[in-house]
Amino acid sequence: MTQADIGLIGLGTMGAALALNIADNGFDVAVWNRTTSVTHEFKNDAGDLASKVHPHETLESLISGLSKPRAIILMVPAGDAVDQQIAALRPLLDPDDMIIDAGNANFHDTNRRAQDAGDLPFLGIGVSGGEEGARFGPSIMGGGKRAHWDRVSHILKAISAKYDGTPCATWMGNEGTGHFVKAVHNGIEYADMQMIAEAYGVMRDGMGMSADAVGTTFATWDNGPLDSYLTEISAKVAKAADPETGKPMLDVIVDAAGQKGTGRWTVIEAQHLAAPIPAIDAAVVARNLSSQRANRTHGQDLFGAAPQPIDGVSLDDLEGALIAGKIICYAQGFEMIRKASDQFDWALPLPDIARVWREGCIIRSKMLNDMAEALTDDADRNLMFAPFFADLLKTHHDALRRVVAAAAIGGVAMPALASGLAYFDAMRTARGTANMIQGQRDFFGAHGFERFDGRHDQHGHWGA
Ligand code: NDP
Repeated sequence: MTQADIGLIGLGTMGAALALNIADNGFDVAVWNRTTSVTHEFKNDAGDLASKVHPHETLESLISGLSKPRAIILMVPAGDAVDQQIAALRPLLDPDDMIIDAGNANFHDTNRRAQDAGDLPFLGIGVSGGEEGARFGPSIMGGGKRAHWDRVSHILKAISAKYDGTPCATWMGNEGTGHFVKAVHNGIEYADMQMIAEAYGVMRDGMGMSADAVGTTFATWDNGPLDSYLTEISAKVAKAADPETGKPMLDVIVDAAGQKGTGRWTVIEAQHLAAPIPAIDAAVVARNLSSQRANRTHGQDLFGAAPQPIDGVSLDDLEGALIAGKIICYAQGFEMIRKASDQFDWALPLPDIARVWREGCIIRSKMLNDMAEALTDDADRNLMFAPFFADLLKTHHDALRRVVAAAAIGGVAMPALASGLAYFDAMRTARGTANMIQGQRDFFGAHGFERFDGRHDQHGHWGA
């Protein structure tokens, strides 16, 4: 019997695609799925790759079909399923066999599992790019002991996306670092998608453009600084027609979006870290709000429809607003990563993180290469202040301001772009207004404050 190079558990959307990708890259992959019929269907449907795919009906059989030291990828839902699989596998494995959790785990869970594993090899890897990425080249963010990463990195690099020949598979650090970076990636993804949706709202409601014209505009922008996977697919989504009714797809899709684990975890963790990521936060909130359709309809009946035609902004302004917004939201994501790196003593490689996102993942974009270069030049600086991005912001922040102002007057909700603008303005205001907060806190709670002359723990004389 062929001893496979690697095992994979969980032949759902992602696991099946990843297993085929592994086989496609010349490795023998042993597979097991909780529902046995799925395992056999997978083998039967593997076509030319079937000879590299080795199905097993039990975990014992899977393990006996792997070359030693073994490595087994878990691609099952995050949470209990991962713990159950680890508990089922560990007694069957040798001490140097490795478990790799490749789902979207909460990084706190990965930290715990890594600690529970002790010296037993365990990796938590973030895999981005959806089903197509998993099949033809995802972006892979690895976390765990470096020596364990090195043992399987030849397989992970082979199956990953490539940017100019460089694999988008990188070790981020110990324990849950890979899953943490993946979560922030997903947070940025939420904000990027939300900003694009807000631009669509301006075009549709403020400018009265057809879905097709919106698609053409996104397609044009995809040739400039906004060149990215999300811009490209937004153009295609806007241009697509429903085969049943002939209407634009955007007019048959309900305007309510959900949010799953990673976006929510990112904003919760940002609060723990005191990392300001308002654009990402606004994007998660916007999804929650979008799902309140009945309330929104009630509000429209009560107050009248909010969106009105917008004057005084052009499509060039809108493109500039998105360019500025995108830089601001990525800057927030990288600042959060920096905060976590300091707080958890992780030494996260910021330039490498920008590099690993250049291909394969959902947020891949032309700008990420410039971000990688900017962070290579100075990894300690807010991305907005790097010369390349500072120049872009100097050029485009007025457009962002015009668009946000016009949208506010026109009643077109723009939570992510507006909060991005507020972040940008706050980050270039040397004298802010928290002195008032400190005065209030001292007034009602004798909390004390610091004075500009350097004296600490001072109190005010507030009078009656
Ligand atoms: P699917 O629902 O398509 O597949 C889930 C798989 O896990 C199935 O093979 C299922 O087996 C198995 N499974 C479920 N529960 C258990 C359990 N308790 N014990 C053992 N096996 C179990 O999920 P996806 O492939 O979409 O997602 C897998 C992971 O990848 C998740 O963590 C997800 O967040 C992550 N991910 C998903 C992405 C996507 O775009 N879909 C992108 C990036 C990451 P069975 O056939 O028996 O039900």
